[in-house]
Amino acid sequence: MSDSALPVVNHFINGTEYVSASGRTAPVYDPALGVQTKSVALANAAEIEAAIDAAKAAFPAWRDTSLARKQQILFRFRELLSSRRDELAEILTSEHGKVLSDAAGEITRGLEVVEFATGFPHLIKGEYSENVSTGVDVYSTRQPLGVVGVISPFNFPAMVPLWFFPIAIAAGNTVVLKPSEKDPSSANWLAALFQEAGLPDGVLNVLHGDKEAVDGLLTSPDVKSISFVGSTPIAHYVYETATQHGKRVQALGGAKNHMLVLPDADLDLAADAAVNAGFGSAGERCMAISVVVAVEPVADELIAKIQSRVAGLVVGDGRRACDMGPLVTEAHRDKVSSYLDIALEDGASLVIDGRGIEVDGDANGFWLGPTLIDNVTTSSRVYTDEIFGPVLSIVRVASYDDGLALINASRYGNGTAIFTNDGGAARRFQNEAEVGMIGINVPIPVPVAYYSFGGFKDSIFGDTKAYGADGFHFFTRQKAITSRWLDPSHGGINLGFPQN
Ligand code: NAD
Repeated sequence: MSDSALPVVNHFINGTEYVSASGRTAPVYDPALGVQTKSVALANAAEIEAAIDAAKAAFPAWRDTSLARKQQILFRFRELLSSRRDELAEILTSEHGKVLSDAAGEITRGLEVVEFATGFPHLIKGEYSENVSTGVDVYSTRQPLGVVGVISPFNFPAMVPLWFFPIAIAAGNTVVLKPSEKDPSSANWLAALFQEAGLPDGVLNVLHGDKEAVDGLLTSPDVKSISFVGSTPIAHYVYETATQHGKRVQALGGAKNHMLVLPDADLDLAADAAVNAGFGSAGERCMAISVVVAVEPVADELIAKIQSRVAGLVVGDGRRACDMGPLVTEAHRDKVSSYLDIALEDGASLVIDGRGIEVDGDANGFWLGPTLIDNVTTSSRVYTDEIFGPVLSIVRVASYDDGLALINASRYGNGTAIFTNDGGAARRFQNEAEVGMIGINVPIPVPVAYYSFGGFKDSIFGDTKAYGADGFHFFTRQKAITSRWLDPSHGGINLGFPQN
């Protein structure tokens, strides 16, 4: 089929499909089939302006909509999303490639944030002090920012937008969401569903595009904040550019997450965790474990246990009962597999080689099986780069201190985990690891919705994390009001200073 005969994913602006006239599109693939199934519109300047204008026009009425009404709409959105999650999971799998159970898991984590956001009246309450001077009261209120921009990555096309827009909207803002161009459809589906729940037109707009759309949001004086999730170089660029344009910014970047296995750990538990966290979603998770740091003498036994588990994994089309799907694009698959050659050049050993794996799916899919590399050196790019695929490295160390030093020397600080039966060691680790999210015998410690998500170092730029209390803090600004009402018994105008 020629490109022009394929469906086009258009923008969703002011409550309706907005057919792009930019003449620019990007291909959208079904990764398990290895074929282009759609194109996605790439916005031009007029379309960027249309999305921002729609959000700007919707803001005053949405800001002033009662908390009770906003809450009803959020509850209805929650109900619709919960009852129609299978539909969304199908969309996710067809564009991202992750297996359906994983897609369902992504939606559940997003739903948790919607549920958290329904309690927003409690989280935007202000404070009140009576009689700070005689007859003078001071109180504060948290007010929305206005139009806010959300820019999301390919690997969680539903969950990452759901980290931000329910909270932004609950707090009274209006949103322009720019999803990844690799898997764009779920954003439109979510926006249409929210509208069905009663959200007024223009409160949530989806603008598709590439760097041009992103730059349009970063530089527009009408966009008050930017929430970004993606790779570190782009997160850094987004942070610098948007702050230079006077915006509030939270930009979450890449990761390289270590799992430290102490000699006293339950190695079956650790092996299960390494396989889940290393190969789940084909390793395309910012909280994936990509390095197992084995404190000797456990490495050989742990590797054997990981090997036997991997032997039972079925790689294939996510719509079938498989454990792991393909990578998102052919180019990404090729980039990830190039690290296997680098590993060999750098003297590491390929314990499991994921190339040429037999799959339960179409031969043209973007496949790479689980890969395990032993004796990885910390100077190798296999160790230093974020590979973002099903490639798990083993680094052998002599002690807890050596393992900790390695983790703390990483430029990233998103997530990490320790596996041990020693509570004292775990407690030291939670204190000493320079990482934003810590797991103790838990490999992927993504915080629940009422805590906040975010790392340290090059895994985040900005002070405020995603969702939880930080989310409401980010999407509101505090106003303090000082007021004096004359007591009716006063009987006249008082032009003097208040009396203490
Ligand atoms: P990416 O940085 O390539 O893209 C993210 C967004 O930025 C997309 O919307 C994309 O269109 C846009 N973009 C891409 N290039 C741009 C440019 N030159 N200028 C302006 N905008 C640009 O990331 P990705 O490949 O979609 O996602 C994977 C990355 O996201 C990984 O590095 C992963 O660790 C990271 N990630 C981090 C977290 C976290 O919470 N820290 C969560 C999920 C993903």
